[in-house]
Amino acid sequence: DAHRQLEDFSRRDSLTPVDNRRALMEALAMEFHRSRRYQHPFALLFLDVDHFKEINDRHGHVFGDHVLLHVVQLARGIIRPPDIMGRYGGEEFVIGLVECYQSGALQIAERIRLKIAQEQFTWEHHSTVVTVSIGVVMLSPEIDQVETLVTRADQAMYYAKHRGRNRVELYSEACASENQLG
Ligand code: GH3
Ligand code: MG
Ligand code: MG
Repeated sequence: DAHRQLEDFSRRDSLTPVDNRRALMEALAMEFHRSRRYQHPFALLFLDVDHFKEINDRHGHVFGDHVLLHVVQLARGIIRPPDIMGRYGGEEFVIGLVECYQSGALQIAERIRLKIAQEQFTWEHHSTVVTVSIGVVMLSPEIDQVETLVTRADQAMYYAKHRGRNRVELYSEACASENQLG
C-alpha cells in the first residue's frame, strides 16, 4: 500500500490531479501502440490556456494555480474514464481519447473549450474569464511515434492561437507550414 502510494506520487503532477509529463508520455505510448496495432481510432488534444501570463500578472501566481485546477476539473468532467490526461508543461495539458473518431474528438474538444469559456472563474475576490486553445490530431498509419502525434497536436494548437485563440483546430498541413512561417 505504501509502495502504491509512492508510485502514485511519482506519477502525479505536483499541482493538478492529473499525470505528470513522464506518466503522461508512458500512458500515451501504450495507448498509441495498441491503437496502431489493432487499427483502432485514437485522438490527441493539446490544450493551452490563453494569455495565462497576463492572468498571473494581474491576479497573482496563486490565483493562476487555481485557474489551472479549474481548467483540469472542467476538462476531466467531459472526457471518459479510460481517456488519458496529463500536464505537459506549465499551462499546457495533453488529452488522449481512446476509441475516438475525428468527429467525436472535435466534439469533445469543442465542449471543453466552450465549458471553460462560458463561466467566469472566481477565487478570493478575484475574477476572470478563462479561455483555452486546443489542437486536435488523429492517429494515422504513417505516424510511427507518439512524439509525432504530440508535435502535430501542438502545431494545431499554435494554429488556433494564430487564428485568434479560444478555438479548436484540427491538424492539417496548413498548421505545420504556418508554424514554419513563425
Ligand atoms: P498564449 O495565449 O500565447 O498561450 O500566452 P500565455 O501568456 O498563456 O503564454 P506564455 O508562454 O507567455 O506564458 C505562460 C505562463 O505560464 C508563464 C508562466 O509563468 C506561467 N506558468 C507556468 N507554470 C505555472 C504554474 O504552475 N502556475 C502559475 N500560476 N503559472 C504558471
Ligand atoms: Mg504555453
Ligand atoms: Mg498559454
